Amino acid sequence: MTAQIIDGKTAARNLCDELRAKISLLPSDNRPTLAVILVGDDEASHIYVRNKQKKALSVGIDCRVIELSSSIGENALLSIIEELNEDNKVNGIIVQLPLPRTIDEFKIISAINPYKDVDGFTPYNTGLNVYNRCEAFISATPLGVLRLLQSTNVNLSGKHAVIIGRSNIVGKPMSRLLLNCDCTVTITHSLSENLPAITRTADILVSACGQPRMIKSSWVKDGVIVMDIGITRVDGKIYGDVDFDEVKEKASFITPVPGGVGPMTIACLLSNTYNAFLRNYVHQPHCHHHNCCCHH
Ligand code: NDP
Repeated sequence: MTAQIIDGKTAARNLCDELRAKISLLPSDNRPTLAVILVGDDEASHIYVRNKQKKALSVGIDCRVIELSSSIGENALLSIIEELNEDNKVNGIIVQLPLPRTIDEFKIISAINPYKDVDGFTPYNTGLNVYNRCEAFISATPLGVLRLLQSTNVNLSGKHAVIIGRSNIVGKPMSRLLLNCDCTVTITHSLSENLPAITRTADILVSACGQPRMIKSSWVKDGVIVMDIGITRVDGKIYGDVDFDEVKEKASFITPVPGGVGPMTIACLLSNTYNAFLRNYVHQPHCHHHNCCCHH
């Protein structure tokens, strides 16, 4: 069997086209706005943020990038978030991760107004996701993976999904989404024993561990659906976690790297921002108290 390649680039372009069409119908002085906080001078983070901004502008979402020095203190960062929380023009707020080690990531993320938390990283949206509530903002990468999975038209219910990686931003939310789709979910990580034996039982294998070409064809069963989230740069070239050339001969569907999950991530972030805009629009004037989702 040779796998069908899941074309994330086209799926992302289609999603962006839909968003552009919807946003173009809005009055020009009332368009969605995304604020991106970027702390420090990590090169990869700067590239990611530039890409997010470029894509946002291309669909008609205004994007403010707030660049801050790595020496910024926690309190100063918290007051910037507070200002953005209270700014009615701002619909979505994201903090580009990782933050410098001196800053408590959890504290900063938790300060974002859940209504504006378009990355879905706050404890509030994480909790909503655990409760399988449709109003939860879902982290863009797992959301993109789910949309690509759904594009295969394979019934996910009852399938065994194995996830490699348990980070708060990828592996864990991915596991919740698949559980909410009635998959039987196994989460694995760097301490999992005999990983290939586990992955061989997967109907759906989602990898987010950042180990280039770790997954060989002997790690998967015939007909598996493979979603490769990993992105690792080796000698200037980008690799996924999956040995694509080998595994595609056994899989039924597979995402390439690049051109699979990556492009969908930004498209889903923009889709979340548009949804945040619609909510704020409906509920304005919304509650100014940060971390408060009530309607008073
Ligand atoms: P983290 O480093 O936060 O998490 C990696 C996870 O993989 C950890 O849970 C770790 O286990 C596990 N892991 C590491 N090595 C192994 C191994 N040899 N076997 C099994 N599990 C292992 O990374 P992220 O979750 O942030 O990102 C994961 C990958 O996805 C990276 O390559 C990243 O670049 C990519 N990524 C891609 C995005 C996209 O848009 N396509 C967006 C975000 C990330 P443990 O917990 O035990 O340490």
